[in-house]
Amino acid sequence: MNTPLIQTCLLIDDNPDDRMLVMRALLQDFPAMRVVHIIDLASFEHRLANDHPDLIVTDYHLGWSNGLALLQRAKAALPNCPVIMFTGTGSEEIAVEAMQSGLDDYVLKAPRHYGLLPTRIRSVLAHKHQQQLLQQTQRALQDSEARLRAIINSGTDYIGMFGKDGSVTYINHAGRTLLQIDLTEDIGSTRISDYMPPWGVQIMLNEAIPHAVRNGVWAGECALMRRDGTEIPVSAVIAAHKFADGSIDFFSGIMRDISERKRYEAQLSHLATHDVLTGLPNRALFTDRLEVAMHDANRQHQLVAVMMLNLDRFKTINDSLGHETGNSLLRAVAERLDKVKGDNNTLARLGGDEFALVCGGLAQLNDASELTRTILGCFEAAFHIEQHELFLTTSIGITVYPLDDRSAIGLLKNAAIALNRSKDLGGDTYQFYTASMNAQSLQHLMLSNALHHALRRDELQLHYQPQINLKSGEICGMEVLLRWTHPQLGNIPPAEFIPIAEKTGLIVAIGEWILRTACQQSIAWQLAGLPALPIAVNLSGRQFAQYNLTQIITHILAQTGLAPHLLELEITESTLIQDIQASIATLRELNNLGIRISIDDFGTGYSSLSYLKSFPISTIKIDQSFVRDIHTDPDDAAIVSAIIAMAKSLGMETIAEGVETSEQLSFLRSRQCDSIQGYYFSRPVTNEMITQMLRENWNLSFVVNS
Ligand code: C2E
Ligand code: MG
Ligand code: MG
Repeated sequence: MNTPLIQTCLLIDDNPDDRMLVMRALLQDFPAMRVVHIIDLASFEHRLANDHPDLIVTDYHLGWSNGLALLQRAKAALPNCPVIMFTGTGSEEIAVEAMQSGLDDYVLKAPRHYGLLPTRIRSVLAHKHQQQLLQQTQRALQDSEARLRAIINSGTDYIGMFGKDGSVTYINHAGRTLLQIDLTEDIGSTRISDYMPPWGVQIMLNEAIPHAVRNGVWAGECALMRRDGTEIPVSAVIAAHKFADGSIDFFSGIMRDISERKRYEAQLSHLATHDVLTGLPNRALFTDRLEVAMHDANRQHQLVAVMMLNLDRFKTINDSLGHETGNSLLRAVAERLDKVKGDNNTLARLGGDEFALVCGGLAQLNDASELTRTILGCFEAAFHIEQHELFLTTSIGITVYPLDDRSAIGLLKNAAIALNRSKDLGGDTYQFYTASMNAQSLQHLMLSNALHHALRRDELQLHYQPQINLKSGEICGMEVLLRWTHPQLGNIPPAEFIPIAEKTGLIVAIGEWILRTACQQSIAWQLAGLPALPIAVNLSGRQFAQYNLTQIITHILAQTGLAPHLLELEITESTLIQDIQASIATLRELNNLGIRISIDDFGTGYSSLSYLKSFPISTIKIDQSFVRDIHTDPDDAAIVSAIIAMAKSLGMETIAEGVETSEQLSFLRSRQCDSIQGYYFSRPVTNEMITQMLRENWNLSFVVNS
C-alpha cells in the first residue's frame, strides 16, 4: 500500500545525540522529509500551530515537559497527526497509558531499534491512512443515509420498520404526522399493533406478515389507528427483509391514507342503496335487511313482519300543490315514520309514495299490530309544508315470515296484496295478508289479462235497462250497462271486472267504446222511427278524472250526431266527493256541452248535502240499498223521503234504483219520486229486447196486467 508522503516531522528530544541518530534513521528512508528539532515548549507550540506536521516523534523524559503531556497537546491540536514515542527502557507503563491517550506507536530507545523506526512509521502511517479512508467512507455513508432519510421524510406516505417481534424501530415524518406522534417522541418501546385497530392487527397477523414472509411482499388494505382511536384506512405494502440465511431481519411498511377514497366509495355505495329524496334505504337494501332478519328469526324461532305502506290520495296533493311540495311532504312522512319505526327495524322507500318496514325479532303477531297502530297514529297530526296544513292517511299491508311465505320476494308480494286490500277498504287502515287474498289477486290478475283482449275479441256487449216515468207510466229513458261474456268463464258481473278495468286503466278505452256504441245505438233507434229517449251511460272515477274528458265526449257526439240533451252521464257520489273543487269544474264543462248529469248510488257517499247546490246536476239516483227496505225500515223510508224533497227544492229530478216490488213503487209514487228503474219493470236487457220494448211502447200497465 502506498503510504502518504511525509513533509514535516517534529522531533522532540533533549539529547542532541539521540536526535542525530533518529534523524539519520528517518532521512535514510524519507530523504525529502523536513525534520524540525524541538527542544522547548514554546517552539513546540509554535511548530504545532504553523508547520502542520505530518508526524511527531518524541522522547518521554524531557527537561521542560514529558511525552504524555505533549502527546495530549498534539492530539488536541492535530487529531490526525501520528505520534510515535521513542523512549528508554522501564517506561512500559507509561507507554500503555500513552497508547490509551491516542499514541500511535511506541518504540523502545535502544541502539538496535533506530533502524526499526522507519518501518514502524510506515505501518503507523498506513494504519492512519486506512483510518482516514474508513472515516471518509463512513462520512459518505452518513451523507447518503441522510439523503435517503430526507427522501423518506419528504413523502406523504407512512414509511416504517418493525422487528419480527412487532417492535417498532422507525416511523418517518409523514407516518408520525398521520398518527399524530410528535417528531421528537421516542417510539422505541412501541409495537406495530399499538398503531392499528384490532381488525387491522388481525389482517397483519393472518394475512400480511405470513404472505410477506413467504413471498417477500404483501399488498392490500388495512388501517392505522391514532391514540385517540381514530381509524385511518390505508393501502399498505408490507415487505419482509431477510438475512442471507433466509431468516427474517425486519419488516418494512409503506402505507397510504385512503380515507378520501373510502369516503367516496361509501358515498357511492350509499347512493346505490339509499333513496336520494328521503335518505332512507331503497328496495335493494331493504331486501338485504329483510333476508338478514329472516335468517335471525330462523335461529331464534321468532317472526318477522313486513309492512308495506302507501299514502292515501297522495297523488291529489302532488297534482294540486306541485312536485316540490309533494317531495317535502314525502320527506316529512319519512322523518315521522323513522321516529316511530322501532330501533332495530328497517324503514325503506320503495318508490313514489310507497314505504316498507321490516320488523324482526317478533314473538307474536300482536307486536306487529301494535306497531301498525302507532304508524297510523303518527299521521293524525297535520303536516305543515310551506304554508299548507296537510292531513294525510296511509294504508298498510302486513305479511309475516315464516307464516305467509319463506322468501323475500314472496313476502313483498303478499304485503302488496294486503296493502291493496287496505286501499279497497278506503285507506287509513291495515290488513294482514291471508291466503285467500292471494287467490283473489290471482283471479284479479287472470281477469285483467283476459280483459285486455275482451274489447278486441268482441266479448263486450251493452245491455239496456228501461227507466219509467211514474206520472205517465212510460219508458222515459234507459241505463246502459256493460256485459262481459268470457269464452270460458261465461258472464262476469260488472261489479267484478269494472274495478279491475279501473285499476289497470283499461276503463278509459272500454269507456270510450261504451259511449260511442251507446250513442250510435240511440241514433239507430231514431233512424228506425222510435222515440228519441235519453240514454244514461255510467262514467267511472278514472274516466271522470281524465283531463280530456269533454273533448272525447264532444268528439263522440259530433261523430255519431247524437243531440247532447239525449246523453246523460251517471257519476257516483263517491267519485264526485273525491275532489269537490275539481268535480265542480268538470261538471260545469260537461253541463256546458248540454249533457245531463246524474249522481249515481246517491246516499252511499256519506257526504254532506250542502255541496249539491254547487253541482250542475239534473238527476239524483237514489241507491238501491235504501229502496230495498223502504216499506219496512222507517229509517230508509225517511231517508228516501228526505232525498226526494231536497232534490225537488234544488230543482233536480229523482229516480229510484232497484225497484223490485209494487210496494216499493207505491211508496215512491206517494213521495212523488219522478221515475224508477228496477226488476219490477225490467232487468237490463239486450239490444234486440229493448228495441222491441220501444217499438211496442211498453209501459207500467204491462207489468200490472201481466
Ligand atoms: P249501477 O250503475 O248502480 O247500476 C245499477 C245496477 O243495479 C246494475 O247492476 C243493475 O243490473 C242493477 N239493478 C237494476 N235493477 C235492479 C233491481 O231491481 N234489483 C237489483 N238487485 N239490482 C238491480 P250491474 O249491471 O251488475 O252493474 C253493477 C255496477 O257496475 C253498476 O252499478 C255500475 O257501477 C257498474 N257498471 C255497469 N256497467 C257499467 C258501465 O258501462 N260503465 C261503468 N263505468 N260502470 C258500469
Ligand atoms: Mg248507474
Ligand atoms: Mg247505481
